[in-house]
Amino acid sequence: MTQVTAVDPAAPGAAGDPPLAPAAPRCDPAGRDPARRDPVGRDLVGRAERLRHDLATRLTALVRPADDAGAGERGGDGGSDGDALAGGDVSVGWHAALAVRSCAARYRAGGEEGWGFPGWSAPTAAAAVGRAALHRHLDDDPPLGIHPLPHPLALVKDWMRATRPAPDRGVAEWVADRLEARDAPTLAATAAGAARWVAGFVRVLGWPLPDGLALLGGGRDGAVLYPWRPWKRAPVAVRSGADARLGRVTGSGDFAVVVHRPTTGADGTLRDRAAFEATAAALSIGVVPARVVVTAGDAGERARVDVDEALLDAGAALVEDVVRQRVIATERGFAAEDATPSAACRRCDLLAGCGPGRAWLDGPGRWRGGLPSR
Ligand code: SF4
Repeated sequence: MTQVTAVDPAAPGAAGDPPLAPAAPRCDPAGRDPARRDPVGRDLVGRAERLRHDLATRLTALVRPADDAGAGERGGDGGSDGDALAGGDVSVGWHAALAVRSCAARYRAGGEEGWGFPGWSAPTAAAAVGRAALHRHLDDDPPLGIHPLPHPLALVKDWMRATRPAPDRGVAEWVADRLEARDAPTLAATAAGAARWVAGFVRVLGWPLPDGLALLGGGRDGAVLYPWRPWKRAPVAVRSGADARLGRVTGSGDFAVVVHRPTTGADGTLRDRAAFEATAAALSIGVVPARVVVTAGDAGERARVDVDEALLDAGAALVEDVVRQRVIATERGFAAEDATPSAACRRCDLLAGCGPGRAWLDGPGRWRGGLPSR
């Protein structure tokens, strides 16, 4: 059974203190109790390898069932030039998993823009810019946190001003491009989102940041979680959304991945998020993490979710669901009979052609006094 530990931000040892500092002396830096039996067995490298192998086999059966079902058995090293999926590669990140779980029919109608990385924009760039700005500050001011943290907006603007155009630098290249285009509205929206990300991250994790914390995704000493592909040249890439890692990656798995959410709202259940990120991190790193720490910047809260077999299985199922729906999308596209109506129908572009969605919105209890009731 997965253990979810909500941490009261007002409690001693919560926000402002190193978050995973042991509440009791027996916990290690990743918040794990050494006396407790390892929930996925001691062989955390072997468990990650089994996860890769099992998922590669399952995804092979979905993506190229008649082509080369032996790819998974070869440890994901197979591949052929015929591995393309119509409509482009499928990027399996948390938001794709959330979209599939919310309404698979809508996800299937997403097309190339909905199935892959949607591209940089103010909302998609906020976390990446926030991480990069914080990383630059840490790189410039060693040792960690010895100097006060500037106002988050000033921190972000400094980073933006120092950004120079250079190909293949991800979000930095996009920001440099917006600077060159003098796109002030987009830059202002991005800076605001990034500053909010930094403020929430530091609020929850404390400043100086905890010993052993490594921001992911950039910087001089930054660790990177590369996308995992089930086999060579596979049109499927599983991408971790973790923002940081706590503790060193060792064969004993004594590390946690940190997922920072600026807000708590509309981001699915915490356990599903933890399941997806535990699985994506294990696939990418090759070692199962001990825990996933999920934060909420607006509330100043964090929760620690132990990684066990059930959590990894749930994460693998989320990954498989995305790929399955993507394959169905290639074959059948949008099918209203498969739609799952919910409050999300109010904002859905497909509502006009979706009978179940319209019926749901017209049903009893959806409106109160002319306003949506749920
Ligand atoms: S209108 Fe609702 S049920 Fe229909 S596709 Fe959109 S989200 Fe799904």
